[in-house]
Amino acid sequence: MTAAAATAIAAAGASLPAVALAQAAAPAQAPGFYRYKVGDMTVTAIQDGFFRRPLEGFIRNAELPAVQAAMASAFLSTSAVEISFTTMVVQNGSQITVLDTGNGDSGAPTSGLWMRNFRAAGYTPEQVTRVIFSHFHGDHINGLRLKDGTLTFPNAEILVPAPEWAFWMDEARMGAAPEAMRGAFAAVRRVFAPIASNVKQFQPGAEVAPGITSTAAFGHTPGHCVFMISSGTGKLMFMADTTNHPALFVRNPDWSAVFDMDADVARATRRRMLDMVAAEKTQVHFYHAPFPATGFIAKAGNGFELIPVQWTSSV
Ligand SMILES: [Zn+2]
Repeated sequence: MTAAAATAIAAAGASLPAVALAQAAAPAQAPGFYRYKVGDMTVTAIQDGFFRRPLEGFIRNAELPAVQAAMASAFLSTSAVEISFTTMVVQNGSQITVLDTGNGDSGAPTSGLWMRNFRAAGYTPEQVTRVIFSHFHGDHINGLRLKDGTLTFPNAEILVPAPEWAFWMDEARMGAAPEAMRGAFAAVRRVFAPIASNVKQFQPGAEVAPGITSTAAFGHTPGHCVFMISSGTGKLMFMADTTNHPALFVRNPDWSAVFDMDADVARATRRRMLDMVAAEKTQVHFYHAPFPATGFIAKAGNGFELIPVQWTSSV
């Protein structure tokens, strides 16, 4: 080692405590946003933290050891699963569309990072032209309205799948729902009831915005939709909750998460959608995939594999 190198190392060592102190006061990670292009559109994945739950009881139709083996093969915990949340912003000229809104201030303490990350990506809520929802589970809709009632996006048009609205806003159905589901119905009303007359419903299959076309992907919820985002030759399928964590459900598409409201229909939808994007080599985004939650689907064994895209510093 040269004397100069030794001096440099000593100097670096001397400054270590100061560096450690500075890091302790900073956020745990860099802001969670990731930008990429789909044709002429700019897509930004926005991270909203995660929710950790026990692995046991997560999958209805598989024994725990099999689920643990799948987690181990992905080098993940065999006791708990981290379900992360990644929404999407699509910028098309001056049009700024948000696809699903995250947990707002209603989720787990490890969630609720969306606004910080959205602002870090250079956006403000006032700029948002429209918000499109895939379905009405709390982790997708609660970001639209804070607990104190404030609407997050004052200038945005709100678009929702008509069958999802019909299911959750049905008074009789809420009255007849089992106790365990009452909270989910109440959450939907908390977010949407005050703006019900302004919410625009779309039929699955409709083009919801220029270059953003909905497709029915029922099963996870009765009106769950996915969205094809296309511009020129660029395509991206926003798969929402067609699968939960890919290490489990892309690998094993016949497994059913407890959150799938109609497990059989969700399973059939999952196979159909994964087969399609694999055959067509369409880039995908899964709401609950590890950040930045995007990649490609390849066939593997009796299921599929999510191949993440290569991170790039240039958009
Ligand atoms: Zn979800």
